[in-house]
Amino acid sequence: MTRTLLLASAALAALPGLAVAEGELNLYSSRHYDTDERLYSDFEELHGVTINRIEGNADELITRLEAEGANSPADVLITVDTSRLARAADMGLLQPVDSEVLEQRIPANLQDADNRWFGFSQRARIFFYDKDAVENPPQTYADLADPAYEGLVCIRSSTNTYNQTLLASIIENQGEEAARAWAEGVVANMARAPQGGDTDQIRGVVSGECAIAVSNTYYFARAIRTEVDGLSADIDRIGWVFPDQGGNGAHVNISGAGIAANAPNAENARLFLEYLASDQAQAYFSEGNDEFPAVAGVPLADSVASLGAFKADDVDLTAVAAHLGDAQEIFNAVGWE
Ligand code: FE
Repeated sequence: MTRTLLLASAALAALPGLAVAEGELNLYSSRHYDTDERLYSDFEELHGVTINRIEGNADELITRLEAEGANSPADVLITVDTSRLARAADMGLLQPVDSEVLEQRIPANLQDADNRWFGFSQRARIFFYDKDAVENPPQTYADLADPAYEGLVCIRSSTNTYNQTLLASIIENQGEEAARAWAEGVVANMARAPQGGDTDQIRGVVSGECAIAVSNTYYFARAIRTEVDGLSADIDRIGWVFPDQGGNGAHVNISGAGIAANAPNAENARLFLEYLASDQAQAYFSEGNDEFPAVAGVPLADSVASLGAFKADDVDLTAVAAHLGDAQEIFNAVGWE
């Protein structure tokens, strides 16, 4: 059985022995998907290792890791985005992993150049639009900033890691000046001040508040697979565009993981990362949470396959992560809330 521990700074003192027992693995995870249970239970059955999970947002988990220092019980940090993995690595909170399995299975552009983090699933950040209201939807990220779409675009806050990594990728691909102009243009095109999560942006298309929404693919695919309030019933009205198909390809971010610098169960942690790269776990990312597997050739869930084939930007995420500071500066400068 997986034990899930609530994140509370006082809780650490109440966890003596958590870190040292053999056959244990302590995950600090910011994955926020109800359907992940099997991802963990399958590993427990396979390896006879008990997983203890501490869940929270990535910033909280990183702060906690840093505060715990050498005494941290954390073995693995899992995030839903590149930026926080890169930050944890920069802070010295992750250790390099020497694994032939990971080296071979995970595409080079989806892993840290120094092997401190690896992407296990992919999500494209694409456009969703009202098919009745928008005759010519934007086809590129640059289009999204075109004045033709003034007042039509819903996209979440710049505090959101998905947007931070998207802008960092635009800096990497097109340079800082183009990225700044782009961010300015998108702010000018916003239908409303940024609010809510990705699902709320697509819901805004259903409610008519937004004509165009920016969201990760899995939020939409989930609404195809299962009933999502305010979305599934009207999903036929919504079209989607994978941007930049004639150029770099659609921006793709990862959910990934690394091994904590002071992991007490480092061997189990390596086993777990290699398990995440296995066909079994890779298929789960698609079936369970409508993501794209990181490993090529793993079958997609129907909900994900129904989005159609697309060209993904294969830019190196280590290079993208180097621009995260500049991205934040641009967001602040252009007044992207
Ligand atoms: Fe998410």
